[in-house]
Amino acid sequence: MTMTLIPSSTHEAIHRVEDPDSGLLGLIAIHSTQLGPAAGGLRMRPYETFEAALEDVSRLSAGMTYKNAAAGLPLGGGKAVIIADPATQKTPDLLRAFGRAIESLKGQYFTAEDMGVSPEDMSVIGEETAYVAGLPAGEFASGDPSPITARGIFNAIRTTHAARHGSSDLTGRSVSLQGLGHVGWHLAGLLRQAGANLIVTDIDPVRVAAAVKAFDATPVALDAIYGVEADIFAPCAIGGILNQQTIPQLRTSIVAGGANNQLATPEDAKALHARGILYAPDFVANGGGIINVATEILKISDRSRFVDEKLAALDQTMIRILTEAKAQNVSPDTVAVATVDRMMAAPQAAE
Ligand code: NAD
Repeated sequence: MTMTLIPSSTHEAIHRVEDPDSGLLGLIAIHSTQLGPAAGGLRMRPYETFEAALEDVSRLSAGMTYKNAAAGLPLGGGKAVIIADPATQKTPDLLRAFGRAIESLKGQYFTAEDMGVSPEDMSVIGEETAYVAGLPAGEFASGDPSPITARGIFNAIRTTHAARHGSSDLTGRSVSLQGLGHVGWHLAGLLRQAGANLIVTDIDPVRVAAAVKAFDATPVALDAIYGVEADIFAPCAIGGILNQQTIPQLRTSIVAGGANNQLATPEDAKALHARGILYAPDFVANGGGIINVATEILKISDRSRFVDEKLAALDQTMIRILTEAKAQNVSPDTVAVATVDRMMAAPQAAE
């Protein structure tokens, strides 16, 4: 296994990881360790080019710096990718070689699951390194983060609703929900419990049918979700769905959901603001997931107390962001990015 530094002006370090014996080719990007060890998941994808993998890992690791800081965690931003098809090219040897690469960084970077990687894969990586989270079992194993992620998004929806309408009560309010997977399903349950009416879509018709039954939800076609008239739009499927095509279609006054990288470009935050749509910045709204993973990385013994406190603090951060955005008449996304930039300038603020 060999590691080569790729020169970067934006990241503390980007390592190219190669192991010809196992066929491993990957990247570990450490964007920032200013607030603590860099933490972020490992993604396995058959990227078409090395450059595409480099771009993805660079963008995702920078995003983790912002997410971890906004969640008030003593963790920096990092991410890793392996260029391989998880269905056909994932072998224990390849994962173990990657584990050795992580171990060689001596705790500068902690990994966990992302697309194409399972808790069982984390166990294999964990045979070679201690710097791994998302394990299926063990003293501090944190399990599926999505229920905690959904709790954080639910808080963000209530808080955004209060900022817009003066009340966090969701009784009788309508929420259009895109994606009924791990996060979307748990969120749907919390919203329904709070008295909201759901309009849902998913590429999987079985999930849609289940939501109709479990939550009395109204199903709509995939592309119809953008034009649905509702109080809140909650994207919980894929990134890039707030863009030039979809934003003009929206008929909600709030967008607050859990998907990563909802904005196709930073300009799209301005477009939402120009249309009078209040947007809860995704990297703040979905911070519950990394809060859950952090209990494992930081070896927290009173897990539920830590999660409750961090979720409450995350909600306060969202309130401050929305208040400042209103006062300045700018998009909450602009304020959220500036808030983290300030935290980075004064690291003790994240403690
Ligand atoms: P998931 O794979 O369990 O669920 C995604 C769901 O979206 C699936 O049901 C899928 O069929 C559906 N979907 C995919 N494309 C769609 C489309 N074009 N239109 C409608 N539905 C579509 O994933 P998840 O863990 O629930 O994560 C959802 C989003 O939240 C992702 O963007 C993820 O990065 C983000 N996120 C997840 C967590 C977590 O704790 N799992 C934490 C932070 C952020």
